[in-house]
Amino acid sequence: MSNIPYKTYLDESEMPKQWYNLRSAMPNKPAPLVNPGTGQPMTAEELSGVFCEELVAQELDETTPYIDIPEEIRSFYKMYRPSPLVRAYCLEEKLQTPAKLYYKFEGNNTSGSHKLNSAIAQAYYAKKQGLKGVTTETGAGQWGTALSMACAYFELDCKVFMVKVSYEQKPFRREVMRTYGASVTPSPSMKTEVGKKILAQHPGTTGSLGCAISEAVEVAVTNEGYRYVLGSVLNQVLLHQSIIGLETEAALKKIGVKPDIIIGCAGGGSNLGGLIAPFMRDKINGDLDCRIIAVEPASCPSFTRGKFAYDFCDTGMICPLAKMYTLGSGFIPAPNHAGGLRFHGMSTTLSQLYHDGYMEAIAVPQTEVFEAATRFARTEGILPAPESSHAIKAAIDEALKCKETGEEKNIVFGLTGTGYFDLVAYQKYNDGIMDDYIPTDEDLEKGWAGLPNVE
Ligand SMILES: *Cc1c(COP(=O)(O)O)cnc(C)c1O
Repeated sequence: MSNIPYKTYLDESEMPKQWYNLRSAMPNKPAPLVNPGTGQPMTAEELSGVFCEELVAQELDETTPYIDIPEEIRSFYKMYRPSPLVRAYCLEEKLQTPAKLYYKFEGNNTSGSHKLNSAIAQAYYAKKQGLKGVTTETGAGQWGTALSMACAYFELDCKVFMVKVSYEQKPFRREVMRTYGASVTPSPSMKTEVGKKILAQHPGTTGSLGCAISEAVEVAVTNEGYRYVLGSVLNQVLLHQSIIGLETEAALKKIGVKPDIIIGCAGGGSNLGGLIAPFMRDKINGDLDCRIIAVEPASCPSFTRGKFAYDFCDTGMICPLAKMYTLGSGFIPAPNHAGGLRFHGMSTTLSQLYHDGYMEAIAVPQTEVFEAATRFARTEGILPAPESSHAIKAAIDEALKCKETGEEKNIVFGLTGTGYFDLVAYQKYNDGIMDDYIPTDEDLEKGWAGLPNVE
């Protein structure tokens, strides 16, 4: 046995006091958000009609490396942070691998995922601006749950548009949000103009994140004292999530470990962007030689099969355009059980880094993901979220490669959350009736047909 503890905790006093802005280290900055009407980069003024002022400033800041975490947010973080970095001794033993596996566990809070790290920051800035409330979308429900908790803490109203299929399949998530005081509407709905339009075009649709975003934005811009907040994709969200990477960096330093491979699941890219932030900085500066791998579902393969192009972030085409790896805003992925990975696009920051060759990406089918999840649950005890299990799957595969080669690599992965609200998916897997939906090239061509003509 090595003398590395099963869990490495930081003291409260060692919790980061600043977030790290990865864009400041990038040789090629991510392309700016563009106004679909004018084709020009979005100004702070235009963005502040939709988003909170201070969050707009963070969104547009690509040069300041460190940004102070306000004391109010740090106090909230202390309820569940610093989160542990766990050495997966039991899984290593089971796999008989010489690799060393570490995971940063973000599921130790009631919302069950890393999303609370950004939710509390966004709620804080909304409160500071004197707003009445915020609107948002949620897919599987993790973001809506996190935001509901954060809004309850700061006594803000919270209106959540929840992708219809999840609203129906995950009634318990919905009730958690309502318990925290949020109102939850299945999307697409008849409450918004864009919802009515989408329902007219696609009657019977089970919805998508893109639809729900359009509805939430519409409600924010048409109601006095409201702004829209988003749980992933945006630079500000990656900034808040950098606390994951900074804590991981500090914990690894404590135990004297240098990562050889860092793995994270990628939906909109926020947990991955946060986890890798300080390591990517070192990699860009030539101070760290390490592979960074994004793992996405084969049913929604933005990185591995997407186009790097300007696209709409939402189905209703009312949001700014972002240059990202995308499957097209009209692409509605098959109902994969990892709801949090069903967005058609990807963070502009990660898209640029991937385009510039700083990171790799793989896509995995969901039955293999659940096989890995089950293996992990049976050895490490934690019941992982389906999203997180994408990273587990890739980490296990890398550990098994080390078994072949005898290499003692240090593999670090993000375990973003728990899967207690995903038991319908586990049930399907346990009953042997889980499908692997993989879009055809034709499906993808259809998604790209609506790409805007912006370079
Ligand atoms: C939302 C979610 C993800 C994916 O979102 P990212 O922005 O790509 O991090 C991953 N894991 C869990 C548990 C989630 O809730």
